[in-house]
Amino acid sequence: MKHKDDERTFKDPVCGMEVSHLSAIATTDHEGKTYYFCSDGCRDAFVAEPGKYLKHHRQHGLE
Ligand SMILES: [Zn+2]
Repeated sequence: MKHKDDERTFKDPVCGMEVSHLSAIATTDHEGKTYYFCSDGCRDAFVAEPGKYLKHHRQHGLE
C-alpha cells in the first residue's frame, strides 16, 4: 500500500522548486542525506558547491 510517505516533496536546493522523490530527475547524497533535483543541471550545480546551496537551509529534514 502506498502511504502518505510517498507523497513527500523536497525542495530542490538549487532553484527552490518542489520535487517529489518519485518524480525527481536527479538525486545526490551529501553527508548522509539525499537531495532531489528537478534537473541534472541543478544536481551538477549542487555537487560542485554544496555549501553554497545549503547555507540557507541549515536544518535537516522536514519543513
Ligand atoms: Zn532545480
